[in-house]
Amino acid sequence: MCTDSCPTRVHVRDGRAVKIEIVNDKAAYCPRWKAQLDFVYHPDRLQYPVKRTGRRGEGSWQRISWDEALDTVAANLQAAKDKYGPESVVFWVAYTKEPRPYFHRLTHAFGSPNYCTESSSCFSGTWIAAELTCGPDYGLLAAQSNMADPASRCNMIWGTSIQNSHPQVWQEHLEAREKGLKLIVVDPRVTTIASRADIHLQLRPGTDGALALGMMNVIINENLYDKDFIEKWTTGFDGLRKLVEEYPPERVEQITRVPGAKIKEAAILYATRKPAKIAMAINSTTHHANGVQNHRAIILLSAITGNIEVAGGNRWTPHGQPVNDITLHERVIDMPPGVGSQRFPIWTKRYREMQSNAIVDQIDSGQPYPLKALFSAGLNIQFFPNSHHMAETFKKLDFIAVTEYFQTPGTQLADIVLPIASWLERHILIADLGAENVKLIEPAIEPIGESWPEWKIYSELAKRLGLGDVFWDGDFEKCINYKLEPLNITCEDLKQHPEGIKRPLPVRPEKYYEKAGFLTPSGKVEIASSILAEHGLDPLPVYQEPVESPVSRPDLAEAYPLVLTSGARVIAYTHSQFRNIGQLRRLMPEPLVDINPADAEPRGIQSSDTIKISSPRGSIRMKANVTDTILAGVVSLPHQWPDEANANLLVDDRTLDPISGFLPCKSQLCQVSKL
Ligand code: SF4
Repeated sequence: MCTDSCPTRVHVRDGRAVKIEIVNDKAAYCPRWKAQLDFVYHPDRLQYPVKRTGRRGEGSWQRISWDEALDTVAANLQAAKDKYGPESVVFWVAYTKEPRPYFHRLTHAFGSPNYCTESSSCFSGTWIAAELTCGPDYGLLAAQSNMADPASRCNMIWGTSIQNSHPQVWQEHLEAREKGLKLIVVDPRVTTIASRADIHLQLRPGTDGALALGMMNVIINENLYDKDFIEKWTTGFDGLRKLVEEYPPERVEQITRVPGAKIKEAAILYATRKPAKIAMAINSTTHHANGVQNHRAIILLSAITGNIEVAGGNRWTPHGQPVNDITLHERVIDMPPGVGSQRFPIWTKRYREMQSNAIVDQIDSGQPYPLKALFSAGLNIQFFPNSHHMAETFKKLDFIAVTEYFQTPGTQLADIVLPIASWLERHILIADLGAENVKLIEPAIEPIGESWPEWKIYSELAKRLGLGDVFWDGDFEKCINYKLEPLNITCEDLKQHPEGIKRPLPVRPEKYYEKAGFLTPSGKVEIASSILAEHGLDPLPVYQEPVESPVSRPDLAEAYPLVLTSGARVIAYTHSQFRNIGQLRRLMPEPLVDINPADAEPRGIQSSDTIKISSPRGSIRMKANVTDTILAGVVSLPHQWPDEANANLLVDDRTLDPISGFLPCKSQLCQVSKL
């Protein structure tokens, strides 16, 4: 299986993987699967544990044994635990999904509430928005909404470039288009899918909520909403009706820069060509200080038009097989409050993790208790807002250990770096997200060098921390057997059936809610969220201008007049990964900033010029790509390049979304100048 979802076939000769083939040819054009053997056999792969010899950030290392490495890690984590309490140790995950439950278990077995992952700024903002609106079982509403549905007559693709972000389903979208699917695209950029749309709404980044309210204004005033569904299955519609009165297309045009006539045309097309589906981005609507409410407004478009839980509309998706939860998360309730849980209670409680974007603050303040050590599965500096400040703050920790494939900017902060086995070199259990076919994939090859699979690292460390029994004394099969008990499958069964064992996932008929209701506190779709009201937050998706924008900060916009958005997917890379893989690096050798000619010409900037992008947090340099595919007044930066090209160096870590704790990396202010 390539990185996250496309099954592949690997040919092995004399213990070496010599060829890789993709099984689902629909994603064949994605270049990353072809490059996986270059990744696995990369000469810079970490082959043995190392300890730092110089000062943090200097990158001088000494090879050590696994015993010395794990003894050192255990001794330092135990020392922090004994002196400051187990909560003073943070456990952070940057990459890979499948081994996470083992890491989650280690965190809580150790006694720390502080299990944090990159989900602190990934798709969980949409998860929370869906949960607040439709119930805790709707977390995957956005993540699964990108699948093309042959029953849909209209698709509204909101803030996602399907071609780059979901190669597996790109072809299906093109085929549906050829069969007459109407297509509305919402994106500040003229992406490939936007160039094929019937209507393209090219909005100012961060104004998604206003656009959705403007479309609902038209739908309600044109009487195009589903009265029956609203009456029986929603709460708070009267409040919404009043709210959208403040958002007529003419005003929304001022806010979003999308022509009012186009907003009206798109609203009517979406509401009348039913069933219609919104393909929701997994974070371009939530990477803002007003993100969760933005996304709630988009979900309500689907609800008030009666497009929820109908074929061709937006529907519930099973979270995966009902396996036993091995995370020990139930212990957190008896632990001190986790990082960010007092500032972002809604997110931390419902997403069952602590908020990474609050770690830096707690290290700096030492409140409500000091953070002293970090054990991290990958440490991706580029992930954090105001990354330079984050790196300097992490240097204050007494001890940092990181598991990684390669030396990275993040490992330069570590005291110990442990080499991990890649997906070809370890067991992979497929039973979670959307897996009908429960499978145990055996390692295709032996681990490279002395690298170890995550399970072995965590269970061996657990032994040294006196937690061996919690990890079945290192017996992986016993862990799998426990996890799969509810499915009545054993590890041995899976070994006997490498093709996998079918366990159909639960399905729900159309309009299932007529019998079961929704799992929200009211049993209905909560247009006005009772949970938000409980926390003193706007129950309705009231539109808030981005904290940093030409409208909210005209003073700041004098020095930083352009809107910065970052993080648009490029097909060559998965976030910070793969820039050291030659065949992928050739696809995008340098980070390119999309800048409109109207902004480039007055600055004397031409394509390929080296430019400086600066914000109140600092400055970086990249190459210019002068193009009219980006809205004038907006610049689009690729994300997670290292060091002086790291877009998150420019992003504010103060003004996080009050519900999710997400960073506003898609709506900041900046200036661009030629170097
Ligand atoms: S889309 Fe590309 S990178 Fe992602 S799993 Fe498929 S082949 Fe791999």
